[in-house]
Amino acid sequence: MTSTSQKPLVLYIDGNDFNQRLVRKILEPEGFLVESAGDGLQGIKKAIDLVPDLMLLELNLPYVDGLGVTMKVKSMPSLEHIPVVALTSKRARDDQERALASGCDGIVEKPIDVHRFAGRIKELLEGRREGHRAINKTQMLRDFSASLVDQLREKVEQLEQANRELAGRKAEIKDAYERSQKANLDLKRINKLKENIIAITSHELRTPLSLAVGYLDVLNRGMVGTVNEEQQELLRVSLEGLGRISSLIDRIGDLSRIEKKKIPYEFKVVDLNQVFHRAYSGYKIFLQLRAIDFQLELSKEPLWVRCDENMLEQVFANLLKNALCYTRDGGKLTAKSWIDSGRIHFSLQDTGIGMSAEDLDQIFEDFYQVHDHTYHKTGTFEFMTRGIGVGLTFCKGILEEMGGTIWASSDGLDKGSTFTLYLPQVEQNESVATA
Ligand code: ADP
Repeated sequence: MTSTSQKPLVLYIDGNDFNQRLVRKILEPEGFLVESAGDGLQGIKKAIDLVPDLMLLELNLPYVDGLGVTMKVKSMPSLEHIPVVALTSKRARDDQERALASGCDGIVEKPIDVHRFAGRIKELLEGRREGHRAINKTQMLRDFSASLVDQLREKVEQLEQANRELAGRKAEIKDAYERSQKANLDLKRINKLKENIIAITSHELRTPLSLAVGYLDVLNRGMVGTVNEEQQELLRVSLEGLGRISSLIDRIGDLSRIEKKKIPYEFKVVDLNQVFHRAYSGYKIFLQLRAIDFQLELSKEPLWVRCDENMLEQVFANLLKNALCYTRDGGKLTAKSWIDSGRIHFSLQDTGIGMSAEDLDQIFEDFYQVHDHTYHKTGTFEFMTRGIGVGLTFCKGILEEMGGTIWASSDGLDKGSTFTLYLPQVEQNESVATA
């Protein structure tokens, strides 16, 4: 016996799981070890690896059929002594003869007789062999080689088909690769174009803008003649408009510098609550004018973060400006800050127009706006006054440079929005350089 436990090892080859379980259920309680294989090739491999005491097999098997397995086993000096038993159906006399001719030592008829099955296997193990029947071995071998040729032809056809499909896929992949290369080039070109526009906006517009601001200021101060009240009001509105354009140009320039990592940050360790208070103080008056209820739920203890204070203040100002602009008069804003797992968190929740799930993912992309950008109010902090869709990109870029990030959540349109950010927590006396 091959098995160390002295129990005889039966290798059962059958593609059907149910039959495998049944044979195992019958033989194991009778003191056999049972190993199974699901196809002819696997069966031959297991026979070589395990050298079982007996092999039991179906004739109809995937890849190499039962006759092929038997012939292979009987042709190998290390395995030829193993009794091979074929499971065939009662009336399939031809199959039985072919199995015996191919070298099988016994036949067990299906359906399996549960009471006699184990006894039959024991007999075969003890050396009993099937009586030879009158069979025409030459005819059987001829049939077998014909069936091998058929199997081979079928396999070749399958391989050719797989090859054709592969060639088709290769062409598809090549095509997709070429398209992605082209898209990549287009993207690079568009990006270059964007950079050029930004450069033109920042450099070429700034000079005439400063001139216009300067001249309007000269006029406004009455330096080239008296200015009446009506003219003064017109000049004030014009200067305010130019001021907004100027800060937009600054913001676009910042974005480009963040992208190219060219912002000259001045890192310090500061209390996030204090930086927020500074930004908030600039918005108090507008919150009052718009009758917006503001709830402050900031942590009592200082929240030390390492950051560029001015940049962080601009992040808060941007969030406050958005919350103010996208919340109706009489709405509510809640600012919270807290520490969690070594991170300083801050959130600003509003009861405003909210956002769809699709927009939540995109609002941090530059120049992205949820609403039609042509629908703009001219005021600064009125409901639905918008910029040009770069504020949040700026916030995200800055926070990521400082080791943090920001995200938005909303239960949907008209259900309010919450913007949450975090920065790594540091010690108050932490060295700025090593932080
Ligand atoms: P913008 O300057 O146009 O406001 P932002 O980058 O700050 O650009 O915001 C991008 C878009 O995100 C806005 O156009 C707006 O549609 C949406 N958004 C930002 N904040 C809010 C908010 N608090 N509530 C609803 N939508 C918001």
